[in-house]
Amino acid sequence: MTDVRPLKQEQEPASSEVTEVAPGVLRLQLPIQMPGLGHVNTYALIDRSGAALVDPGMPGPANWKALQQQLQQAGLRVADVHTVIITHSHPDHFGGAARLAKDSGAQVVTHEAFKTVWDDHDHVDSSDADAGGEEVDFEALNAKGAMPPRRKPWDSTAWGGNEYQPPGVKGLMFRYARPLMRRQFRTPEANRKLRNGDVIKLANREWIAVHTPGHTLDHLCLWDPEEGTFLSGDHVLPTITPHIAGLGEGADTLALFISSLDRVTEIDGVKYVLPAHGHPFVDLAGRANEIRGHHDARMQRLREVSVELGPATVQEFTQRIFRPDRWGFMAESEIFAHMRHLELTGQADRLDGEATPRFVITADHPQNVPST
Ligand SMILES: [Zn+2]
Ligand SMILES: [Zn+2]
Repeated sequence: MTDVRPLKQEQEPASSEVTEVAPGVLRLQLPIQMPGLGHVNTYALIDRSGAALVDPGMPGPANWKALQQQLQQAGLRVADVHTVIITHSHPDHFGGAARLAKDSGAQVVTHEAFKTVWDDHDHVDSSDADAGGEEVDFEALNAKGAMPPRRKPWDSTAWGGNEYQPPGVKGLMFRYARPLMRRQFRTPEANRKLRNGDVIKLANREWIAVHTPGHTLDHLCLWDPEEGTFLSGDHVLPTITPHIAGLGEGADTLALFISSLDRVTEIDGVKYVLPAHGHPFVDLAGRANEIRGHHDARMQRLREVSVELGPATVQEFTQRIFRPDRWGFMAESEIFAHMRHLELTGQADRLDGEATPRFVITADHPQNVPST
């Protein structure tokens, strides 16, 4: 049986064409093979002294070769790159940064919470967590001890059960790929760490850092009020809903994500939204509200499933919500984020005392769910 579903924008293979998508901003595309994604957009922000590159793709030689070709296509050399900006700690965004920074001598810019699961040391010094600034979400998370767990996502899951292994051949590849991944996915060291509201000069104008935790806790968007350009990373994507991290105990990542959506709907004068996957678009607030509606609908669906199943594990909920080809760690972590949100807002109970906790949704109407 052939799959007749049309490709979503985010699944399209990388085009070799370089286009100017906002004043002084070029869109370069790099190939990636991840579930539901065919390319990552690497934006080049051009100024008098060269270029800043946002999200330079995956680690490894194939990406490096593609990046060099795309730079050439854009009329740039590796040595022209003076700044590498990483929107968040996923490998298709930070993976190519260490090599690029080393070969170009560029500074690396991230949000101050930037931290990857491949990281063996803290990038955030807990002593400066209360040093002021506007990082309300991040500091609150620190206070609750809810920073991302140190374990690797495949070592264990926060929703119980044993070590996650994809079945069959995929599982074998997964096990053998681990040592290679550990070597390749070296975390780049940031020279400059931005907080919400910080200003950075790129493409000859000032951009404001917008911290948007939810997809990851360290997600960074950049807003240029002069030309109306918004770099949305994976926070707001044109046709798919960004994955919500189910990071662990304590963090209500769904609530964080919803308030980060609200944060960007308040921005006035947006003319160009530049996402990390898919095509540039215009209506930032409209798309953010659509994504929010998707999560309201998902919560409603979980309520219905809870009535059918009674107390059930995250895996059981996941297998009722997602198609079988989507089952696994990513889907479960997303469902866990929703169950944690329902639990923390008093709408679900967790039945502990078993190796794998079961959840039951107790509220039959969304009185506490952020909506509208
Ligand atoms: Zn991501
Ligand atoms: Zn991504």
